[in-house]
Amino acid sequence: MSTRRGEIMKELGLQRWRLRGRPTRGDAPPAAAVAKAEAATEAELPLDGRAAQILRMDWPQLKDSVAGCVACPLHKGRTKTVFGVGDEHASWLFVGEGPGAEEDLRGEPFVGQAGKLLDNMLAAIHLKRGKDVYIANIVKCRPPGNRAPEPLEAAQCEPYLQRQIELIKPKLIVALGKVAAVNLLRREASIASLRGKLHDYRGIPLIVTYHPAYLLRNLPGKAEAWVDLCFAVDTMRGLKNKPAAAT
Ligand code: SF4
Repeated sequence: MSTRRGEIMKELGLQRWRLRGRPTRGDAPPAAAVAKAEAATEAELPLDGRAAQILRMDWPQLKDSVAGCVACPLHKGRTKTVFGVGDEHASWLFVGEGPGAEEDLRGEPFVGQAGKLLDNMLAAIHLKRGKDVYIANIVKCRPPGNRAPEPLEAAQCEPYLQRQIELIKPKLIVALGKVAAVNLLRREASIASLRGKLHDYRGIPLIVTYHPAYLLRNLPGKAEAWVDLCFAVDTMRGLKNKPAAAT
């Protein structure tokens, strides 16, 4: 193991894991779940005028719109909006919950301790922020006290993320934490029931793992997150090897 890789695995608390090594039987996600994608169950909400407008925007229009957005109460406490960062044609999209204090100051997602861990998680599967990877959040303004976004706030912000996803066209979405997962999938569920399964977001495969901020407080969760990352890597490999559909 190279020194750098050793450091990364140490940071993750995962020295005994290897990317190429499959999870052991006890660690594997439920077999039936892995094989089959789950469709989101709830019907899509009708678009109001604002959402319809956002869903026609290009990247510059979208960035301008977010920068000046006052569509929900979160705008009152923000320092900067946190639009998202990365490769605008990325295969991988990682979605978190919302900006924290440092993200609010810098206008970039995942730049604090949780961000450092996310970068290490990416490095452990040979990915890098900005290189075939895009990182975004459910809401683009910081919820006060780092609370979870309220349903109204998430709903008002949703068209922005939806449009970002339409423009990026990722092959795979990784939802970081329950808040990201339930908002993207539009159904309430425990993170335990969502992990280890291939879900579907508007035709794009979606995998759920823990939020890095949770992993900072919960060491056993890191081993489970590693299982999720291996699952994501295997899924992406399958997606990239899949023959293009005949036109
Ligand atoms: Fe607008 Fe989203 Fe910020 Fe709310 S969180 S003000 S909807 S950009």
